[in-house]
Amino acid sequence: MCSKPKIHRLKVWPLYFDDIDCENKGFELRINDRGFEIGDYLVLLEYQPANDEYTGRVAVRTVDYVLDNHPGLVDGYVVMSISRLYGEMDECLICGCTENDCHQCIEETGQACSWADDDHTICSACLFSDEGKEVTNV
Ligand SMILES: [Zn+2]
Ligand SMILES: [Zn+2]
Repeated sequence: MCSKPKIHRLKVWPLYFDDIDCENKGFELRINDRGFEIGDYLVLLEYQPANDEYTGRVAVRTVDYVLDNHPGLVDGYVVMSISRLYGEMDECLICGCTENDCHQCIEETGQACSWADDDHTICSACLFSDEGKEVTNV
């Protein structure tokens, strides 16, 4: 694997978000419209389709395996096994800011960020912004 891991933001409906959050659901079945690869990160955003809103709950997972071109799997879809990044990371995947050094968020947004997820892997300033970064969107 020589390519840099990509970060993919994906919408997750509440029914599934709970199961991902408590780690009962360690896979994602998705249309492969963005070239998912082992080592990529999924930023899973709980999304309420009824009112077209994000709830604010976020879970970050790594892609451990990608299954495609397999009998039974519709063409263009992949199944990914995903897992939590254990232990609090305390470093934003996108901007790299930490508890101790958040100057870039302050420069960009005028205020210090907060952690968007329980594992401290993505900051509030980066949750929906991706300037110059390799991030694909929902
Ligand atoms: Zn950040
Ligand atoms: Zn920050």
